[in-house]
Amino acid sequence: MWQQRCTRSAFGTVLSSVLFLLALFCYVEGEQIVIKGGTVTNADGQLVADVLIENGKIAKVQKDLKVPPGARLLDASGQYVMPGGIDPHTHLEMPFMGQVACDDFFSGQAAALAGGTTMHIDFALPTKGDLMQGFHDYQKKAAKACMDYGFHMAVTSWSAKVAADMATLVKKGINSFKFFLAYKGALMVTDEEFLQGLQKCREIGAIAQVHAENGEAVAVGQKRIFEAGITGPEGHALSRPSFLEGEATSRAVRLARFVNTPLYVVHTMSIDAVEEVARARARGQRVIGEPVASALSLNETAMWNPDFKIAAAAVMSPPIRAASHRVKIKEALAGGLLQLVATDHAVFNSTQKAVGKGDFRVIPNGVNGIEERLHVVWEEMVNSGLITPSDFVRITSTAAAQIFNLYPRKGVIAPGSDADVILLDPKVEHHISAATHHSRIDTNVYEGKRIMGKVVVTISRGRIVWENGNLNVTPGTGRFVEMLPMGPLFEGLDILDQEAMHPLGTTPVHHTHAKDEL
Ligand SMILES: [Zn+2]
Repeated sequence: MWQQRCTRSAFGTVLSSVLFLLALFCYVEGEQIVIKGGTVTNADGQLVADVLIENGKIAKVQKDLKVPPGARLLDASGQYVMPGGIDPHTHLEMPFMGQVACDDFFSGQAAALAGGTTMHIDFALPTKGDLMQGFHDYQKKAAKACMDYGFHMAVTSWSAKVAADMATLVKKGINSFKFFLAYKGALMVTDEEFLQGLQKCREIGAIAQVHAENGEAVAVGQKRIFEAGITGPEGHALSRPSFLEGEATSRAVRLARFVNTPLYVVHTMSIDAVEEVARARARGQRVIGEPVASALSLNETAMWNPDFKIAAAAVMSPPIRAASHRVKIKEALAGGLLQLVATDHAVFNSTQKAVGKGDFRVIPNGVNGIEERLHVVWEEMVNSGLITPSDFVRITSTAAAQIFNLYPRKGVIAPGSDADVILLDPKVEHHISAATHHSRIDTNVYEGKRIMGKVVVTISRGRIVWENGNLNVTPGTGRFVEMLPMGPLFEGLDILDQEAMHPLGTTPVHHTHAKDEL
């Protein structure tokens, strides 16, 4: 098993240190690679051209490029040459609900690379409410990384220290903060705390992200369903209906409007949430809606499966909904009402999920997807005719790079950009399975799904890390990518501040009183 081999080599021995330094040296140098004859596909168009990669960057994109001596040649005839995927929503090695997610920064990233994703943004959690400590703890976890990554930071309480730490973290390369309106008694913040967080985000130029479900109502719903005798995974779906997601999305959107700050709604899982995002955008508000791969491909019936293992594997929050929601989410994505696709990859294997046998409320929430996302989106969105390959690039890579202020370093095949590149062959058929995936989880919510089209090569910062079904990855070679604040979503916001002023003016009016007139 490659995972065991690599995991063992990560620690301890002098040999591993030498290998690490060697790998780092190779990493910096990279190799010269020429990708010949593929269809270079960016969000803004396609072109049959060759691509030269050197020193970890894209050096040239042009027709009939001469292959330099010693360069590695990849024949991409009949294939798409695309920017590597960026998954903006993952939880590697996350402590949650008494468990720790079983993919760490190495196994999760290796799985990502095998599926064509070359960067992800993980949610760092505070440690005992301390943001800085949480950041340091996540940096330690990420020491074994094998590809580029960034962090969002969750804000789960409020104090002057939290506010100060947010400003410090922005200087350290974090430009987004997440607030949970669900998980009462754990991660949830009150409206007052959320509002203060939104104001701080605006001040420091960071994107506010929200998990939008009404946590108070969910707690009531869970108790009601459990006491009605429904204790299995289907109770998870029944206890948190889509309109609780709609309510919280509406509330979050309006509070962000009140503060005039951009809002990023993570995992829009329902028609209810999509409608709130669409309405906000229609009135000109800067709101981003992020569906996840599972919402495009799956429906809630898995939670009613009599096999607990299958049913529990599908438990995530907000829940995967009825098929009608899936249809609407795909249409909204195709029509530009939603902007990009993530995964919320948070994996707990079947023994971890089993702690919730007899009580759905304690099943650790989360599904896989970091490896499957590109293939699922390709199958559901491109092969169904809903979007073009350029749209595919936009929703799997470019949009994330733009929103999180990484563009054009990431998210585009262009000279000067990082050489994060994939080759996708649209004629290769394959099936997703836990037996062949690279994540450590022992189930796969997409088990058996047929995909027409496959990522056959992944290049991560100039190195071929996935080819012919083989991974070539080394722990410790990944890099933390700093993301700067005040990104494109903040440009011109101050003008909107002015426009929000009341048409009758906002300077105090001297009101006369009867006695003044005497
Ligand atoms: Zn999440």
